[in-house]
Amino acid sequence: MTDLTDTQLAELTEARSQGVTTLRPTVPALEALLFEPIPVLDHGFIRVVDYMGDDSAVVQAARVSYGRGTKAVSEDRGLIRYLMRHWHSTPFEMCEIKLHVKLPIFVARQWIRHRTANVNEYSARYSVMDREFYIPEPQHLAVQSSDNKQGRGDVLDQDTAQVVRQILMRDAHQNYSDYEFMIGPEEKCGAGLARELARMNLTLNTYTQWYWKVDLHNFLNFLRLRADAHAQYEIRAYAEIMMQILRAWAPITAEAFCDYRLGSFTLSAQMLKVLRRRMDGLPVDQASSGLSKREWQELWETLA
Ligand SMILES: Cc1cc2nc3c(=O)[nH]c(=O)nc-3n(C[C@H](O)[C@H](O)[C@H](O)COP(=O)(O)OP(=O)(O)OC[C@H]3O[C@@H](n4cnc5c(N)ncnc54)[C@H](O)[C@@H]3O)c2cc1C
Repeated sequence: MTDLTDTQLAELTEARSQGVTTLRPTVPALEALLFEPIPVLDHGFIRVVDYMGDDSAVVQAARVSYGRGTKAVSEDRGLIRYLMRHWHSTPFEMCEIKLHVKLPIFVARQWIRHRTANVNEYSARYSVMDREFYIPEPQHLAVQSSDNKQGRGDVLDQDTAQVVRQILMRDAHQNYSDYEFMIGPEEKCGAGLARELARMNLTLNTYTQWYWKVDLHNFLNFLRLRADAHAQYEIRAYAEIMMQILRAWAPITAEAFCDYRLGSFTLSAQMLKVLRRRMDGLPVDQASSGLSKREWQELWETLA
Protein backbone atom coordinates (compact mmCIF):
# COMPACT_ATOMS: atom_id res chain seq x y z
CA MET A 1 0.00 0.00 0.00
CA THR A 2 1.56 3.30 -1.02
CA ASP A 3 -1.25 5.77 -0.17
CA LEU A 4 -0.94 7.79 -3.38
CA THR A 5 -3.64 10.31 -4.27
CA ASP A 6 -5.56 10.08 -7.57
CA THR A 7 -3.55 13.06 -8.87
CA GLN A 8 -0.25 11.37 -8.00
CA LEU A 9 -1.38 8.12 -9.65
CA ALA A 10 -2.42 10.04 -12.80
CA GLU A 11 1.03 11.70 -12.91
CA LEU A 12 2.70 8.28 -12.67
CA THR A 13 0.53 6.82 -15.43
CA GLU A 14 1.32 9.78 -17.67
CA ALA A 15 5.07 9.52 -16.95
CA ARG A 16 5.06 5.81 -17.78
CA SER A 17 3.13 6.35 -21.03
CA GLN A 18 5.74 8.69 -22.52
CA GLY A 19 8.35 6.65 -24.38
CA VAL A 20 11.31 8.15 -26.24
CA THR A 21 14.03 6.66 -28.39
CA THR A 22 17.60 7.26 -27.24
CA LEU A 23 21.13 6.29 -28.14
CA ARG A 24 22.02 6.06 -24.46
CA PRO A 25 22.27 2.61 -22.86
CA THR A 26 19.03 1.55 -21.17
CA VAL A 27 18.25 -1.49 -19.03
CA PRO A 28 14.88 -3.11 -19.91
CA ALA A 29 14.51 -4.70 -16.43
CA LEU A 30 14.97 -1.30 -14.75
CA GLU A 31 12.80 0.50 -17.32
CA ALA A 32 10.04 -1.89 -16.23
CA LEU A 33 10.38 -0.58 -12.64
CA LEU A 34 10.82 3.09 -13.55
CA PHE A 35 8.50 5.53 -11.70
CA GLU A 36 6.51 2.74 -9.99
CA PRO A 37 6.40 3.05 -6.17
CA ILE A 38 7.58 -0.20 -4.57
CA PRO A 39 5.97 -0.48 -1.12
CA VAL A 40 8.19 -0.61 2.00
CA LEU A 41 6.97 -0.88 5.64
CA ASP A 42 3.35 0.23 6.16
CA HIS A 43 3.20 3.53 4.21
CA GLY A 44 6.67 3.93 2.66
CA PHE A 45 7.96 3.33 -0.83
CA ILE A 46 10.93 3.57 -3.15
CA ARG A 47 10.54 4.74 -6.76
CA VAL A 48 13.31 4.73 -9.33
CA VAL A 49 13.04 8.16 -10.92
CA ASP A 50 16.07 8.04 -13.24
CA TYR A 51 19.36 6.26 -13.82
CA MET A 52 22.51 6.48 -15.91
CA GLY A 53 24.74 3.60 -16.99
CA ASP A 54 24.67 -0.14 -16.40
CA ASP A 55 27.15 -3.04 -16.09
CA SER A 56 28.61 -2.15 -19.48
CA ALA A 57 29.33 1.44 -18.31
CA VAL A 58 31.49 -0.01 -15.51
CA VAL A 59 33.40 -2.15 -18.00
CA GLN A 60 33.64 0.70 -20.51
CA ALA A 61 35.19 3.02 -17.91
CA ALA A 62 37.60 0.37 -16.63
CA ARG A 63 38.85 -0.26 -20.17
CA VAL A 64 38.52 3.41 -21.17
CA SER A 65 36.95 2.13 -24.39
CA TYR A 66 35.19 4.11 -27.13
CA GLY A 67 31.97 2.17 -27.61
CA ARG A 68 29.95 -0.33 -25.62
CA GLY A 69 32.74 -2.84 -26.31
CA THR A 70 32.95 -6.07 -28.26
CA LYS A 71 34.18 -8.38 -25.51
CA ALA A 72 32.14 -11.45 -24.55
CA VAL A 73 29.75 -11.17 -21.59
CA SER A 74 31.94 -13.71 -19.72
CA GLU A 75 34.95 -11.37 -20.07
CA ASP A 76 32.88 -8.41 -18.80
CA ARG A 77 31.75 -10.53 -15.86
CA GLY A 78 35.33 -11.51 -15.09
CA LEU A 79 36.43 -7.87 -15.18
CA ILE A 80 33.61 -6.67 -12.92
CA ARG A 81 34.37 -9.44 -10.44
CA TYR A 82 38.07 -8.51 -10.52
CA LEU A 83 37.25 -4.82 -9.87
CA MET A 84 34.97 -5.74 -6.97
CA ARG A 85 37.45 -8.20 -5.46
CA HIS A 86 40.31 -5.71 -5.52
CA TRP A 87 38.34 -2.62 -4.43
CA HIS A 88 39.04 -0.92 -7.76
CA SER A 89 35.98 1.21 -7.20
CA THR A 90 36.08 4.23 -9.51
CA PRO A 91 34.54 2.44 -12.56
CA PHE A 92 31.42 1.85 -10.42
CA GLU A 93 31.13 5.61 -9.89
CA MET A 94 30.27 5.99 -13.60
CA CYS A 95 26.69 4.81 -12.98
CA GLU A 96 24.09 6.89 -11.13
CA ILE A 97 20.59 6.30 -9.82
CA LYS A 98 17.92 8.68 -8.52
CA LEU A 99 15.29 7.41 -6.11
CA HIS A 100 12.18 8.97 -4.58
CA VAL A 101 11.86 7.52 -1.08
CA LYS A 102 9.08 7.82 1.48
CA LEU A 103 10.37 6.80 4.92
CA PRO A 104 9.81 7.39 8.66
CA ILE A 105 11.89 10.27 10.09
CA PHE A 106 13.89 7.96 12.40
CA VAL A 107 14.92 5.85 9.39
CA ALA A 108 15.80 9.04 7.48
CA ARG A 109 18.16 10.00 10.32
CA GLN A 110 20.14 6.78 9.81
CA TRP A 111 19.97 7.07 6.02
CA ILE A 112 21.22 10.68 5.90
CA ARG A 113 24.52 9.59 7.49
CA HIS A 114 25.49 8.31 4.03
CA ARG A 115 27.01 11.61 2.98
CA THR A 116 28.10 10.68 -0.51
CA ALA A 117 24.63 11.13 -2.03
CA ASN A 118 22.62 14.15 -3.15
CA VAL A 119 19.43 14.68 -1.19
CA ASN A 120 16.43 16.95 -1.45
CA GLU A 121 13.83 16.45 1.30
CA TYR A 122 10.18 17.45 1.48
CA SER A 123 10.13 20.78 3.31
CA ALA A 124 8.14 20.81 6.55
CA ARG A 125 8.89 24.55 6.77
CA TYR A 126 6.96 25.08 3.55
CA SER A 127 4.43 22.22 3.44
CA VAL A 128 2.14 20.51 5.90
CA MET A 129 3.25 16.99 6.89
CA ASP A 130 0.79 14.15 6.24
CA ARG A 131 -0.91 12.28 9.07
CA GLU A 132 1.01 9.10 8.32
CA PHE A 133 3.02 7.10 10.85
CA TYR A 134 5.03 3.92 10.87
CA ILE A 135 3.48 1.47 13.32
CA PRO A 136 5.54 -1.75 13.46
CA GLU A 137 3.79 -5.08 12.95
CA PRO A 138 3.76 -7.14 16.21
CA GLN A 139 6.48 -9.48 14.90
CA HIS A 140 8.85 -6.49 14.66
CA LEU A 141 8.30 -5.37 18.25
CA ALA A 142 11.04 -7.01 20.31
CA VAL A 143 12.82 -6.57 23.65
CA GLN A 144 16.22 -4.89 24.00
CA SER A 145 18.97 -7.36 23.05
CA SER A 146 20.97 -8.58 26.05
CA ASP A 147 24.25 -9.02 24.12
CA ASN A 148 24.04 -6.19 21.56
CA LYS A 149 23.37 -2.67 22.85
CA GLN A 150 22.30 -1.64 19.32
CA GLY A 151 19.88 -4.47 18.69
CA ARG A 152 16.68 -6.25 19.60
CA GLY A 153 16.10 -9.69 21.07
CA ASP A 154 13.00 -11.88 21.40
CA VAL A 155 9.66 -10.70 20.01
CA LEU A 156 7.23 -9.23 22.58
CA ASP A 157 4.30 -11.38 23.62
CA GLN A 158 1.09 -10.59 21.72
CA ASP A 159 -0.65 -8.65 24.53
CA THR A 160 2.37 -6.43 25.23
CA ALA A 161 2.86 -5.86 21.48
CA GLN A 162 -0.76 -4.68 21.18
CA VAL A 163 -0.28 -2.27 24.10
CA VAL A 164 2.89 -0.87 22.49
CA ARG A 165 1.18 -0.46 19.11
CA GLN A 166 -1.71 1.38 20.77
CA ILE A 167 0.70 3.73 22.58
CA LEU A 168 2.55 4.44 19.32
CA MET A 169 -0.70 5.14 17.46
CA ARG A 170 -2.23 7.22 20.26
CA ASP A 171 0.82 9.43 20.76
CA ALA A 172 1.46 9.91 17.03
CA HIS A 173 -2.17 10.91 16.39
CA GLN A 174 -2.31 13.11 19.51
CA ASN A 175 0.88 14.93 18.54
CA TYR A 176 -0.36 15.32 14.97
CA SER A 177 -3.66 16.79 16.21
CA ASP A 178 -1.67 19.26 18.34
CA TYR A 179 0.44 20.06 15.25
CA GLU A 180 -2.75 20.74 13.28
CA PHE A 181 -3.99 23.03 16.06
CA MET A 182 -0.67 24.89 16.20
CA ILE A 183 -0.46 25.52 12.42
CA GLY A 184 -4.20 26.23 12.12
CA PRO A 185 -5.10 29.85 11.28
CA GLU A 186 -6.31 31.99 14.19
CA GLU A 187 -9.69 32.62 12.51
CA LYS A 188 -10.28 28.86 12.70
CA CYS A 189 -9.25 28.77 16.38
CA GLY A 190 -5.73 27.57 15.60
CA ALA A 191 -2.54 29.09 17.06
CA GLY A 192 -1.26 30.37 13.68
CA LEU A 193 2.23 29.04 14.49
CA ALA A 194 4.81 28.77 11.69
CA ARG A 195 5.11 25.29 10.18
CA GLU A 196 8.87 25.34 10.78
CA LEU A 197 8.19 25.49 14.53
CA ALA A 198 5.07 23.35 14.85
CA ARG A 199 6.82 20.36 13.21
CA MET A 200 9.08 19.91 16.26
CA ASN A 201 6.17 18.24 18.05
CA LEU A 202 5.72 15.44 15.47
CA THR A 203 6.76 11.93 16.47
CA LEU A 204 9.81 10.32 14.84
CA ASN A 205 7.67 7.67 13.13
CA THR A 206 6.03 10.37 10.97
CA TYR A 207 6.75 9.77 7.27
CA THR A 208 8.91 12.17 5.30
CA GLN A 209 10.01 11.99 1.63
CA TRP A 210 13.08 12.79 -0.38
CA TYR A 211 14.82 12.49 -3.71
CA TRP A 212 18.12 10.66 -3.26
CA LYS A 213 20.75 10.45 -6.01
CA VAL A 214 23.92 8.41 -5.66
CA ASP A 215 26.56 6.70 -7.78
CA LEU A 216 26.74 2.92 -7.96
CA HIS A 217 29.88 2.71 -5.80
CA ASN A 218 28.22 4.54 -2.92
CA PHE A 219 24.91 2.75 -3.54
CA LEU A 220 26.86 -0.47 -2.85
CA ASN A 221 28.45 1.09 0.27
CA PHE A 222 24.96 1.88 1.53
CA LEU A 223 23.81 -1.69 0.86
CA ARG A 224 26.91 -3.21 2.46
CA LEU A 225 25.98 -1.50 5.74
CA ARG A 226 22.20 -1.44 5.56
CA ALA A 227 21.35 -4.76 3.84
CA ASP A 228 23.50 -6.47 6.48
CA ALA A 229 21.78 -8.56 9.15
CA HIS A 230 23.13 -6.18 11.84
CA ALA A 231 21.34 -3.15 10.38
CA GLN A 232 18.08 -2.09 12.02
CA TYR A 233 15.12 -3.95 10.46
CA GLU A 234 13.35 -0.78 9.32
CA ILE A 235 16.24 0.56 7.18
CA ARG A 236 17.07 -3.00 6.08
CA ALA A 237 13.54 -3.24 4.64
CA TYR A 238 14.48 -0.36 2.30
CA ALA A 239 17.90 -1.86 1.55
CA GLU A 240 16.28 -5.14 0.53
CA ILE A 241 14.14 -3.34 -2.06
CA MET A 242 17.29 -1.52 -3.24
CA MET A 243 18.96 -4.94 -3.68
CA GLN A 244 16.11 -5.88 -6.05
CA ILE A 245 16.63 -2.61 -7.91
CA LEU A 246 20.38 -3.33 -8.13
CA ARG A 247 19.76 -6.81 -9.58
CA ALA A 248 17.52 -5.28 -12.26
CA TRP A 249 19.91 -2.41 -12.98
CA ALA A 250 23.37 -4.02 -12.97
CA PRO A 251 22.98 -7.81 -12.54
CA ILE A 252 26.66 -8.69 -12.96
CA THR A 253 27.71 -6.04 -10.43
CA ALA A 254 24.96 -7.28 -8.09
CA GLU A 255 26.28 -10.84 -8.29
CA ALA A 256 29.88 -9.73 -7.63
CA PHE A 257 28.71 -7.51 -4.75
CA CYS A 258 26.85 -10.42 -3.10
CA ASP A 259 29.90 -12.69 -3.48
CA TYR A 260 32.69 -10.31 -2.45
CA ARG A 261 31.00 -7.89 -0.08
CA LEU A 262 27.64 -8.92 1.34
CA GLY A 263 28.38 -12.62 1.74
CA SER A 264 32.03 -12.13 2.69
CA PHE A 265 33.99 -11.85 5.93
CA THR A 266 37.31 -10.01 6.35
CA LEU A 267 40.08 -12.05 8.00
CA SER A 268 42.53 -10.00 10.06
CA ALA A 269 46.26 -10.85 10.06
CA GLN A 270 45.83 -12.57 13.46
CA MET A 271 42.86 -14.59 12.18
CA LEU A 272 44.92 -15.80 9.22
CA LYS A 273 47.67 -16.86 11.63
CA VAL A 274 45.15 -18.82 13.71
CA LEU A 275 43.81 -20.59 10.63
CA ARG A 276 47.31 -21.41 9.34
CA ARG A 277 48.23 -22.94 12.71
CA ARG A 278 45.02 -24.98 12.73
CA MET A 279 45.71 -26.19 9.16
CA ASP A 280 49.21 -27.26 10.26
CA GLY A 281 47.63 -29.18 13.16
CA LEU A 282 49.20 -26.89 15.79
CA PRO A 283 47.34 -25.88 18.98
CA VAL A 284 45.97 -22.36 19.27
CA ASP A 285 43.54 -20.82 21.75
CA GLN A 286 41.93 -17.42 22.18
CA ALA A 287 44.37 -16.25 24.86
CA SER A 288 47.45 -16.88 22.71
CA SER A 289 45.84 -15.91 19.38
CA GLY A 290 46.03 -12.14 19.73
CA LEU A 291 42.28 -12.00 19.07
CA SER A 292 39.78 -10.51 21.50
CA LYS A 293 37.06 -12.83 22.85
CA ARG A 294 34.56 -11.19 20.50
CA GLU A 295 36.81 -11.57 17.43
CA TRP A 296 37.51 -15.21 18.36
CA GLN A 297 33.76 -15.86 18.63
CA GLU A 298 33.01 -14.05 15.35
CA LEU A 299 35.68 -16.07 13.53
CA TRP A 300 34.34 -19.47 14.57
CA GLU A 301 30.70 -18.44 14.18
CA THR A 302 31.49 -17.42 10.60
CA LEU A 303 33.34 -20.65 9.83
CA ALA A 304 30.80 -22.91 11.55
C1 LIG B 1 25.16 -0.93 12.33
C2 LIG B 1 25.47 0.55 12.34
C3 LIG B 1 25.52 1.24 13.55
C4 LIG B 1 25.82 2.61 13.57
N1 LIG B 1 25.85 3.28 14.76
C5 LIG B 1 26.10 4.61 14.79
C6 LIG B 1 26.11 5.35 16.03
O1 LIG B 1 25.90 4.79 17.09
N2 LIG B 1 26.32 6.70 15.99
C7 LIG B 1 26.57 7.35 14.81
O2 LIG B 1 26.79 8.55 14.83
N3 LIG B 1 26.58 6.68 13.63
C8 LIG B 1 26.34 5.35 13.59
N4 LIG B 1 26.31 4.68 12.39
C9 LIG B 1 26.58 5.44 11.15
C10 LIG B 1 27.98 5.18 10.63
O3 LIG B 1 28.96 5.62 11.55
C11 LIG B 1 28.20 5.90 9.28
O4 LIG B 1 28.07 7.28 9.47
C12 LIG B 1 27.20 5.48 8.23
O5 LIG B 1 27.10 4.08 8.19
C13 LIG B 1 27.61 6.01 6.87
O6 LIG B 1 28.77 5.35 6.46
P1 LIG B 1 29.90 6.09 5.64
O7 LIG B 1 30.45 7.24 6.41
O8 LIG B 1 30.88 5.03 5.20
O9 LIG B 1 29.07 6.59 4.34
P2 LIG B 1 29.26 7.92 3.49
O10 LIG B 1 28.98 9.12 4.30
O11 LIG B 1 28.45 7.71 2.25
O12 LIG B 1 30.76 7.92 3.12
C14 LIG B 1 31.34 6.91 2.28
C15 LIG B 1 32.84 7.02 2.45
O13 LIG B 1 33.26 8.31 1.95
C16 LIG B 1 34.26 8.84 2.79
N5 LIG B 1 33.80 10.12 3.34
C17 LIG B 1 32.55 10.66 3.23
N6 LIG B 1 32.52 11.87 3.81
C18 LIG B 1 33.74 12.07 4.33
C19 LIG B 1 34.33 13.11 5.07
N7 LIG B 1 33.66 14.20 5.40
N8 LIG B 1 35.61 12.98 5.44
C20 LIG B 1 36.32 11.89 5.12
N9 LIG B 1 35.84 10.87 4.42
C21 LIG B 1 34.57 10.95 4.04
C22 LIG B 1 34.56 7.80 3.87
O14 LIG B 1 35.59 6.97 3.42
C23 LIG B 1 33.30 6.97 3.91
O15 LIG B 1 33.51 5.65 4.35
C24 LIG B 1 26.05 3.31 12.34
C25 LIG B 1 26.00 2.61 11.14
C26 LIG B 1 25.70 1.25 11.12
C27 LIG B 1 25.63 0.53 9.79
